[in-house]
Amino acid sequence: MAQNSQQPLIILADGSSRTIGSQATRNNIMAAKLLSNVLRTTLGPRGMDKMLINSIGDVKITNDGYTILKETEPDHPAAQMIVDLAKKQESEYGDGTTTAVVLVGELLKQAEKLFEDGLDTPLIAKGYEAARDKAIDVLDEIAIPATREALIKVARTSMSGKGSFSNLDTMAEQLVDALLDVAEDNKVDSDMIKIRKIHGEGTESTEITQSVTVDKSVVESEMPKDVKNAKIALLQYPLDARELQNDAKIKITTPGEYQDYLDAEEEMLKEEVQKIVDSGANVLFNNKKISDLGQHFLNQAGIMTAKRVKAGDLERLAKATGAKIVNNVRELTSDDIGEAEHVYEREVYEDREYIFIEGCKNPGVLNIIVRGSTKYVTDSLEQAINNAIGAVSRAMAEDKVLPGGGAADIAVSKALRKYANKFDDKEQLAIVAYAQALEELPVALAENAGMDTIDVIVDLLSANETSPNMGVNVIKREVADMQEEGILESQATKVAIIDAATSVSVEILRIDDVIAAKAMTPVGGDMPGTPNPWM
Ligand code: ADP
Ligand code: MG
Repeated sequence: MAQNSQQPLIILADGSSRTIGSQATRNNIMAAKLLSNVLRTTLGPRGMDKMLINSIGDVKITNDGYTILKETEPDHPAAQMIVDLAKKQESEYGDGTTTAVVLVGELLKQAEKLFEDGLDTPLIAKGYEAARDKAIDVLDEIAIPATREALIKVARTSMSGKGSFSNLDTMAEQLVDALLDVAEDNKVDSDMIKIRKIHGEGTESTEITQSVTVDKSVVESEMPKDVKNAKIALLQYPLDARELQNDAKIKITTPGEYQDYLDAEEEMLKEEVQKIVDSGANVLFNNKKISDLGQHFLNQAGIMTAKRVKAGDLERLAKATGAKIVNNVRELTSDDIGEAEHVYEREVYEDREYIFIEGCKNPGVLNIIVRGSTKYVTDSLEQAINNAIGAVSRAMAEDKVLPGGGAADIAVSKALRKYANKFDDKEQLAIVAYAQALEELPVALAENAGMDTIDVIVDLLSANETSPNMGVNVIKREVADMQEEGILESQATKVAIIDAATSVSVEILRIDDVIAAKAMTPVGGDMPGTPNPWM
């Protein structure tokens, strides 16, 4: 009895379950592997798409790792850790999410084998961490400088993972040139990039320009719609005589009084519009509403006007044109006015107009109008461009790129196999396991291209003896020099993938007790306790 009372007492709520020790580890590995396997077939330019159907029947087709994970909303704790990893990779690097998730799956598959052979998880974790540190060193050694040409290749490589677009080369070049121009100290401010999507034309009509667009029409049809040498005012102020209306406790008893009230309102709006005229503005972008009367006066003054312009657009306009955003029209002066060579309204799709602001004083903003024949095409191209912006920005900031197509993975894996000799037996096994997990990345790329994976890995290992640039071009289905093939990646993104995938794998390996508030639904019928990552 005395002995019993020393044991920890765990009280679980009804319906909750607890899995401990090796079974917990196995379950977690299983959940992680399941998720990773879902993404594995989407990896690389030959990857397949997934069709996602949500609970209300909306269909989405994508091969973007994070999009897939986000939509599937797995509940299993280990699977959730992987979704978090993908989310972080997506938000901080904008690329490499699929690779990171596939790598976690492969690291855990290898760990599972060691674990079944009797190696304990802390030791595996330790070996993995040593391997990660070495891997990052090797990635540094084999990196090459991020020249303009290299960056264009990074953009192409990154975009090709998301679909095949006829004008890939032109887009990659335009995007890199624009990013190089927009960057300050090699850093790109993502708030200064606006991507809009319009379906109805082919992807070759996609526009990448250093300008600003506003997704509004000019408020009145008679207003000027094409202004050269624009003098631009940016307001966050309702031009609707709101103060008067709010103050409308004045009792109106006679028609005369009502007329007085209207006259006062008119007078006030007239004064406000006069402030705009006095400032020298011939174009006005207002974030707030404008009443009909306000529009009438602005029209009379010949000021091209858009209302309810989004705050983000106003900020990009401020940055690009040098205008100041003014909160009270009565404080507007000529000092607040920005400049652009040309402001005009253009129909971008049936009955849909944008206002284009071109030739801005400070062109440090990027306007991307993604075009495609269907929503699926525009969504894929948007993802591709976002991925490329992420990869190029990172490569630019660190001035380092790496060979893609599995070349860097093979170079690292070879270095790790050598490095492993420095460790004692058991840790050595873990480091070699890490090397094997990395080799699975080119294997997955090749597998998705329907290539013979044994041939590919043998060729890669021998080709890599001569140069760390040898990888697999899955478009041509051959092992080749990735620098010559133009398959390059951001080094910083790859380091982040290695780092994050190792951390998550190690974290998952270290869990040996899972207490779940509700019972896990088994999948696969006769395997008790198999976690369902989407339970
Ligand atoms: P992620 O979400 O990880 O970026 P992708 O589906 O975009 O996943 O695939 C990225 C991988 O595809 C990278 O390893 C990259 O080197 C590789 N890749 C891109 N183009 C090619 C190509 N032509 N041949 C082989 N691998 C390629
Ligand atoms: Mg990618």
